[in-house]
Amino acid sequence: IKKIAVLTSGGDAPGMNAAVRAVVRSSVYYNLDVYGFYKGYDGLINGDIEQLQVRSVSNILSRGGTFLLSARSDEFRTKEGRAKAYENFKVNDLDALVVIGGDGSFTGADVFSQEYDVPVLGIPGTIDNDLAGTDFTIGYDTACNTATEAIDKIRDTASSHERLFFVEVMGRDAGFIAVNSGISGGAVAMLLPEHNWGIDDLIRRLQRGASNQKASNIVIVAEGCKLGSAYEIAAKVKAQLDYFDIRVSVLGHLQRGGSPTTSDRVLASRLGVAAVEGLLNGESNVMVGVVNSNVVYTPINEAVKTIKKIDADEFRIAKILSI
Ligand code: ATP
Repeated sequence: IKKIAVLTSGGDAPGMNAAVRAVVRSSVYYNLDVYGFYKGYDGLINGDIEQLQVRSVSNILSRGGTFLLSARSDEFRTKEGRAKAYENFKVNDLDALVVIGGDGSFTGADVFSQEYDVPVLGIPGTIDNDLAGTDFTIGYDTACNTATEAIDKIRDTASSHERLFFVEVMGRDAGFIAVNSGISGGAVAMLLPEHNWGIDDLIRRLQRGASNQKASNIVIVAEGCKLGSAYEIAAKVKAQLDYFDIRVSVLGHLQRGGSPTTSDRVLASRLGVAAVEGLLNGESNVMVGVVNSNVVYTPINEAVKTIKKIDADEFRIAKILSI
C-alpha cells in the first residue's frame, strides 16, 4: 500500500487527536502518503480531504476533541451515500481507510467494506468502552477521570448538607463509566443499562446507610438505565424515603471534553502506530486493540457484534465497599 486516509466518526472522544497524530507520523515514517477526511463519513461522501504532513499534527497530542472534526452521517447509512463515498475513495487513489470511532462507526465501516473492496482498519475511539477486542477504548480513561472529579465536588456539597445526590453519567448502552467512576467516587450504588433490577435494592441500601449515620450518599445512574432517568429514579426514591434531601446532577457533555489523560495518550499513540503497521502487514477489515497489554487485531464485525461485559468483580467490590 502507498496511500491511506484517516477520519474520526461518531461521538468525539479525548485522545482522538493523539490517534490521528500517531497514524500520520507512523505513515510518514513508513513512507506512506496519508490524507485526512474532515467530518467523518460526511467528508468521505463530499470529498472533504486534505493531505496531512508530519507538521499538520503538531501540538494536538494534548487537545481534546478532534481537529479532523466528526459527524453523525445519515447519508452514509444509505446505499447512495456509500456509493459516493466509494467514488471519493477511488478518485483519490487510496489503498486503505483508517476509521477512528465507536461501534456505530465500525458498523458503517463493516457495511462499506463488504459492499466495496475497501480495506478498513478501525481504531476504537469512544468514551463508552463498549467495544470487544480491546480492554480499553480511547477516551474512556479521560471520561472516567472527569466524572470522578465531578463526583468528588458533588460529594463536598452533599456531605455539607447531608444530601442524597443522583449523578447521571454517560452510557446509553453500557455502564463502564458508571461502574468505574462509581468505585472511584465512593458511590453507594451504580444503576446500569445492563442490569434490570428493581428499585428495592437501592432503597434497602439507602435505609441501611441512614441507620448507620451515613452523612452523604451518591448514586450513579448511567443514562441508559432501565429504571429511568436520574430525575425519575430520584422521584421514586423520594416517594418511599421522604426524609432524604435529594438533588440530581446530570454531568452531560463535559464528560466528552478535556485534555486526554496519560493513559489515553499512550493508548492512542500505540493504536495509531499499530493500525498503520497492521495495514502494512496485510491486516484488513479489523479493529486494532490492546488486550492484556498486547496489540491484537479483531475482525471488525466481531468487535461490533460481541457484547463486552462489565467486569463482575468490579461490581462485586463496589457492593462490598458501599456498606
Ligand atoms: P459513540 O458511540 O462514541 O457515539 P459511534 O461511532 O458509535 O460513537 P454513531 O453515531 O453510532 O457513533 O455512528 C457514527 C456513524 O456511523 C453514523 O452517524 C453513521 O454515519 C455510521 N453508521 C452507523 N451505523 C451504520 C450502519 N448500520 N450502516 C451504515 N453506517 C452506519
